[in-house]
Amino acid sequence: MRIPREVVEAIKDRCDIVDLIGSYVTLRRAGSNYNGPCPFHSERTPSFTVFPDSQSFFCFGCEAGGDAFTFIMRSENLDYPNAIEFLAKRTGVDIPRTAEEEKRGLSRKRVYEMNLIAARFFRECLFDPVLGREGMAYLQEKRGLSVPVIRRFGLGFAPNDFTALVTVLKKEGYSEQEMKEAFLCGISQKSGRAYDYFRNRIMFPVIDTTGNVVAFSGRDVGGDSKAKYLNSSDTPGFQKRKHLYALNFAKNHCTDELILCEGNMDVVALHAAGFENAVASLGTALTDDHARIMAKYTKQVILAYDSDEAGQRAAHRAMGIFAKVGLDVRILQMRDAKDPDEFIKKFGADRFRQLLKQSRTGFDFKLQTVLSRHDIAIPDEKIKAANELCEIIARVYSSAEREVYITAVADKLGLSTESLKGDVDRNRSKQAKAGRQQDSRHAQLSAMNLGDKINPEAAGSVQAAAAEETIIGLLLLYAEHRKAVSSRLVSLASENFVTSFHRRAFEAIMVLEQSDGGFEFSLLGEYFTPEEMGRLAKLEQKRRVLTENGTPVLRGAVETLIAAKEKKEVKEASTMDGLQMLLAGKRKNIKKNTEED
Ligand SMILES: [Zn+2]
Repeated sequence: MRIPREVVEAIKDRCDIVDLIGSYVTLRRAGSNYNGPCPFHSERTPSFTVFPDSQSFFCFGCEAGGDAFTFIMRSENLDYPNAIEFLAKRTGVDIPRTAEEEKRGLSRKRVYEMNLIAARFFRECLFDPVLGREGMAYLQEKRGLSVPVIRRFGLGFAPNDFTALVTVLKKEGYSEQEMKEAFLCGISQKSGRAYDYFRNRIMFPVIDTTGNVVAFSGRDVGGDSKAKYLNSSDTPGFQKRKHLYALNFAKNHCTDELILCEGNMDVVALHAAGFENAVASLGTALTDDHARIMAKYTKQVILAYDSDEAGQRAAHRAMGIFAKVGLDVRILQMRDAKDPDEFIKKFGADRFRQLLKQSRTGFDFKLQTVLSRHDIAIPDEKIKAANELCEIIARVYSSAEREVYITAVADKLGLSTESLKGDVDRNRSKQAKAGRQQDSRHAQLSAMNLGDKINPEAAGSVQAAAAEETIIGLLLLYAEHRKAVSSRLVSLASENFVTSFHRRAFEAIMVLEQSDGGFEFSLLGEYFTPEEMGRLAKLEQKRRVLTENGTPVLRGAVETLIAAKEKKEVKEASTMDGLQMLLAGKRKNIKKNTEED
């Protein structure tokens, strides 16, 4: 998709990066820039900086960086065109659409329209005394749901019929291809005919926060189907890893906390019992995207996962994911019920409310897990438990919190707080030392360009890569250097580059430079991932703070690069079967060139 440059420029005119990023994280002025906690990695000292002058940001901790578009790509998890759309909406800029985009936009719109028709059809079937008898019996008798709740969630029933929905949608003018794209039908490989995907299932429409029916989750009632739940796969209007079931309702009731369950049925049961802040992920384990979305709506998540071992393992995993986005997590522990739905049915809403109040903090949960693994009546086991717990407490940042936990453990194990505190402190200094070692290893590696995921080739050609960095930084920053290269005043071409990441950067910069309107940093988003954009922002930033950025620096870097590349080729030729290697390389180049022709 080609983004009209005018749109990007209009957005940049109207969008101030400090306001934009300030609406995601708390920024503090620091000289002419702003600092804040990085939204992309967890850190204790803010190394995330926003530069109003260049309308850019950079994190010295995780090297995320770029402009407003890169920021939105990363924090909203959007691709470049959608990030532009997002900011266009926010700033009130219109995006003129090409015919192809109209078509693509239409396909998403048509998916939603088809879904809406399907949802109505499923609902009619559920309320049909004959077709929906089995489904209705299941919901009312087995699940104890009332008609108002069934209606509120728009529940429906997909009849046990291969062509029921396909026929309805065809009548409405949708093609089989469209239905397939919307994950409403499959096409039989044998007969080539379309067949209903969802059959003999209770249907839960998934509604996004703007009210579109984006997908379906179907629960088997016949019992003969392989999968208990069948969920829509990703479609042009739906991505599993980013959607939460019932967030459309819960978003208005969750400033204090969200309850995260495993299944749709739990969510419906909780809402019906008055807990309107319950959501579930859809046929997928919790993702970082889910956690980030939740963090937008609430401060605390209560995990109401199933009480079986798999559920508890999933809870452990989820805690780690939530910690990354800074959400406070508590864990609900149900006894004598396998999930929230069953618990409420057995013991009622009030008991569940009590359970919520007693939900354990992450530490309580870990404490209990450790205690369940060791029999503390045996001295050896008690020591093991104490050691494990001290190590966990040592990782807690706040000293007040550590003190509370130490007291709790001392109490549980019958040990003195002093001895535990000593152990925790020893663990802390051990961890700090390990951390420092890791940091310095990391610094060493990055000085040697090893472990560089964005430009792995840099490790093999340190000198050339460094010269390339200078060149890219200068070209990103100064129009005069881009002109010098495009007018051949400074002789530099793609072939001169050693690492393919820098070569791509060079090519993209020059393509934009020679296009109507010239180079614009924000337009690079079309060619690079947000991580790569971060690297480009870093290279730009690195040059920006230097005083010497004139033509001699550029020429010097180009000379260094060319010399380093020759040296590298000669070295490779002499170390590895000499000439042959060089020849093979040349042949490959020739072949590549002819292919490109
Ligand atoms: Zn960071």
